[in-house]
Amino acid sequence: MTKTHDNTIEQESMKRSYYHLIINGEKVKSSTSESITIYNPATNERIAEVAKASAEDAEKAIAAARDAFDNGKWKKFPVGRRSQVLNKIAAIMRSRFNELVELEILDTGKSLHAAQGQVTQAIEDFEFYAGAIVGHRGTVNNVPGQFHNYTEKEPVGVCAQIIPWNYPLMMAAWKVAPAIAVGCSVIVKPASLTPLTAIILGEICLEAGVPAGVVNILPGSGSEIGNFLVEHPQVDKVAFTGSTPIGKDIMGKASQTLKRVTLELGGKSPSLVFEDADVDAAVDGSLFGIFYNSGQSCEARSRLYVHEDIYDAFMSKFVEKTKKLQLGNPFDKGTHVGAIIDQSQLDTIDGYVQAAREEGATILAGGRVVNPEGYENGFWYEPTIIADVNHDMAVVKEEVFGPVVVVMKFKDEKEAIRLANDTDYGLGSAIWSTDGARATRVANQIQAGIVMINCPFSAFPGTPFGGYKQSGFGRELCIETLDLYCETKSILSYYGSRSLNPFGL
Ligand code: NAP
Ligand code: MG
Repeated sequence: MTKTHDNTIEQESMKRSYYHLIINGEKVKSSTSESITIYNPATNERIAEVAKASAEDAEKAIAAARDAFDNGKWKKFPVGRRSQVLNKIAAIMRSRFNELVELEILDTGKSLHAAQGQVTQAIEDFEFYAGAIVGHRGTVNNVPGQFHNYTEKEPVGVCAQIIPWNYPLMMAAWKVAPAIAVGCSVIVKPASLTPLTAIILGEICLEAGVPAGVVNILPGSGSEIGNFLVEHPQVDKVAFTGSTPIGKDIMGKASQTLKRVTLELGGKSPSLVFEDADVDAAVDGSLFGIFYNSGQSCEARSRLYVHEDIYDAFMSKFVEKTKKLQLGNPFDKGTHVGAIIDQSQLDTIDGYVQAAREEGATILAGGRVVNPEGYENGFWYEPTIIADVNHDMAVVKEEVFGPVVVVMKFKDEKEAIRLANDTDYGLGSAIWSTDGARATRVANQIQAGIVMINCPFSAFPGTPFGGYKQSGFGRELCIETLDLYCETKSILSYYGSRSLNPFGL
């Protein structure tokens, strides 16, 4: 098992070796008895077996979610009661904080500081929606005299929530919390590589008092179970986070039953460092922007554009600090960059880097598969900076989803904006400048759902998260998300004393 150093957190007792599906409030095995073997990417050691849902299991989960929604009481609970249950979920998660952190590290190979931050945020998401739901309501609208109109926000129904492997618990929280806050039922399909913490979250929801059938957890193959949920006529909405090609596929298939769809897809987010930037802050923010979570973030700032006047000063510090980043024991507080999720992702990352090298790019740091001492069998990549690139290269255009950043110079604001927007994606973007007017001006012209000004962080509970262009649509993590799990019903009434006779008969 993972090595411990003096300055590591205590690992709790070894986890259970088998995890069940959660269907209709019960922990069950797969109907086929099949399971998925889960590995720790840091070591490539087996950590657990997880029940692998079949289509029959998915059918049962949909029926349970349907029944809980159509005939159950959850959506009719007083809103304060639902809010209380969400707070209780958060409280139980907090009481199991170390266990959740540990499981997330084992399942993903991410570093301790990353896992701690993400588990904290997952907890805060439930707390945020526990509060937000209390103020969520329809509107009263202006209509001609003797009419009255108001709207109601009604939960949309049964939601399939398809989760990626890069933030397994946090993405599950982003989806489950707002959906159950408004009264929906959910079927969570975690990524096959990383289902453990979503299963624990499902168990915690039951313990906190979420009725049976409202939260179902269904680990299984994306192309089978994910697809089954997307095509099923009894599912009302699909919320998906993952790759752009699968997002397009889901949108096409969901159109057959006109499901509501929200998509959080890939990105190729730019950072613009202007000549008036605080260079040290921009260096530190840009390091975090790309190397956090080993670069496996949809909002990773993977394209770095630096004004030519400060390029050399910026780059010498950026390269020096990148070379100091520590890889190794993910449980070690001193580890900055964790492992890569699996061999296939590692090969993809290295493929982009070696192709760029062959096309004449210069590798200023990293550029290789690496195995930190004690982690010879795991999947690791050096934090990598690539210069001498152009916008025709795949490494500049496509999402690498690894610790790889490309850097280019720009001359002026206009060029910076043009380069930033020259992408099919539009998720994140960063601006480093001490000139507030410029930062605002540039922010207004960037085609992205998120702009970070002198800020390394992309989101907190309450701030909208989502993309423009091919980064998807819909916003998560914010008040607006509640609407995306609701239908708006307009109720128009007439209260005049004379009966209306619009046809004049
Ligand atoms: P992916 O294939 O899009 O998987 C994301 C989720 O969708 C997983 O739960 C997956 O299940 C499921 N899925 C796969 N095929 C499906 C289908 N046909 N219908 C319904 N659900 C389906 O992403 P990936 O293969 O894990 O990663 C590939 C690339 O996606 C990465 O290199 C990165 O560029 C991008 N990515 C982006 C994000 C993001 O946050 N935007 C997150 C992860 C990955 P299985 O796990 O069973 O396949
Ligand atoms: Mg795993």
